Amino acid sequence: MTPALFTALPADVWQAIARGTRCRCPRCGEGRLFRKWLKPLDRCPVCTLDLTPQRADDFPAYIAMIVTGHLMAPLIIALSKDYALGVVAMFAIVVPVALAMMLGMLQPAKGAVIAVQWWNGMHGFARERRPAEEATGEDAQA
Ligand SMILES: [Zn+2]
Repeated sequence: MTPALFTALPADVWQAIARGTRCRCPRCGEGRLFRKWLKPLDRCPVCTLDLTPQRADDFPAYIAMIVTGHLMAPLIIALSKDYALGVVAMFAIVVPVALAMMLGMLQPAKGAVIAVQWWNGMHGFARERRPAEEATGEDAQA
């Protein structure tokens, strides 16, 4: 690993997640993470991180469903209490909004899941930390 890449490593898991959410490589923060919508590249085009060990599976979809449900529930309650909307009008509003939220959240959620897997060295990812943090053993208990 080059010295420039050491400094590009994320400081903590949250920075790695932020990079993944922006659909960028969690290690360098520069390279694209996805070849197609939900299809990750095999390697980061910038730092050559092997992305094939990722196993996001259905977890990004569960994240998108949970977040969408929690955001939509107050909206549905407000629409049904404050406005006397019919069933067709409710569906005409709620279904497209929920679909847009779900579809818009899938790729960032998958990027975040891949970032967490990389950060924790899961499924064949090498666990990488900045040299100073490794020397102090900051993540030894984690
Ligand atoms: Zn990279």
